[in-house]
Amino acid sequence: MNTDLVRKFKRMFEEQKDRLVYSRTFINEEFNIKEEDFADELDLTASELETAMRMRLRNREALYIRKIDEALQRIAAGGFGECECCGGDIEARRLEARPTTTMCIECKEEQERTERLHIDSRRPKSLGSKIRFA
Ligand SMILES: [Zn+2]
Repeated sequence: MNTDLVRKFKRMFEEQKDRLVYSRTFINEEFNIKEEDFADELDLTASELETAMRMRLRNREALYIRKIDEALQRIAAGGFGECECCGGDIEARRLEARPTTTMCIECKEEQERTERLHIDSRRPKSLGSKIRFA
């Protein structure tokens, strides 16, 4: 992968990490968590809702910091921008949109298809409407 591009991503990851660690505002902007996200938790009181939002925020924050660390490790190892699945190059455009991604779009779509099937098969109630007889 293009060295300048890798350097650019490295700088971006380091900046993001600094902001995540030292500032709270970034997280709200980046993850844009709203009360609508908690529609399934409407019975919660305002303070419970706030606690739930804060916890979810912290989980996402921790997850994102981990992803950044992993991306920095891949940069250090020289494997940044390579698909962990097929070993091909991840499109620069895709990396711009999702810098911490580890898969090319083809592999990611394949994974999402598989995950969806997996989730559906664990939810017997929804099976009835999903089964089609050809
Ligand atoms: Zn791939």
